Amino acid sequence: MYDVQSHLREVLSTLPQGVRLVAVSKFHPKEYIQAAYDCGQRIFGESHEQEIRLKHQQLPDDIEWHFIGHLQTNKVKYIVPYIHTIEAVDSLKLLREIEKQAARCNRRIRVLLELHIAEEATKYGLTPDACRQLLDGGEWRQMEHVQICGLMMMASFTDKQEQLVSEFSQAQEFFNEAKARWFADDPAFCERSWGMSDDYPIAIQHGSTMVRVGTAIFGPRVY
Ligand SMILES: *Cc1c(COP(=O)(O)O)cnc(C)c1O
Repeated sequence: MYDVQSHLREVLSTLPQGVRLVAVSKFHPKEYIQAAYDCGQRIFGESHEQEIRLKHQQLPDDIEWHFIGHLQTNKVKYIVPYIHTIEAVDSLKLLREIEKQAARCNRRIRVLLELHIAEEATKYGLTPDACRQLLDGGEWRQMEHVQICGLMMMASFTDKQEQLVSEFSQAQEFFNEAKARWFADDPAFCERSWGMSDDYPIAIQHGSTMVRVGTAIFGPRVY
């Protein structure tokens, strides 16, 4: 078996205080998650509804499951009973559905708004303007079962350092704007989920509070 524990320790040793690790376990077997769990890791990220459902049933109850993928509204009801954080909320429609389903379970779900900054046209997420529009609309303020805890973003898939720096800085700037304009009196709005295996050291230099790292811990995914 892949040496999950030593890779996990290596990644953890590079994270400064105040930056938490979401161990992205998608496509990896539950034994890998258990190995990381046995080292003390409690936050795991998955991006497919059926896969996270199975793993949630098979693994310890005190795991904080984060849904990090694109979530279809018709899947919300399946994850809401146990999900800790939904990281990639990219429409008001999805936010409304989370509110509705969370109310039925009498839960309050933490969510992050997914920001689209990267150049790639295929990525999901709200542009800064679309995000402003959603927040200005104010409907979210009436949602008692949804708590907007910050922003999530994925940088472009590139090894050009300047481009990564530029994208993470834009995300950080937008976070500061959103904090000041809509969440100044809400301490819960504090999370910046950016940084993956190849770019998390740069993300940390640009305000990340939560890195989502898969490959650097669990090795290459077998699809
Ligand atoms: C798969 C995935 C990751 C982890 O990517 P690695 O390169 O394996 O670290 C992070 N965030 C999201 C949204 C993902 O889908």
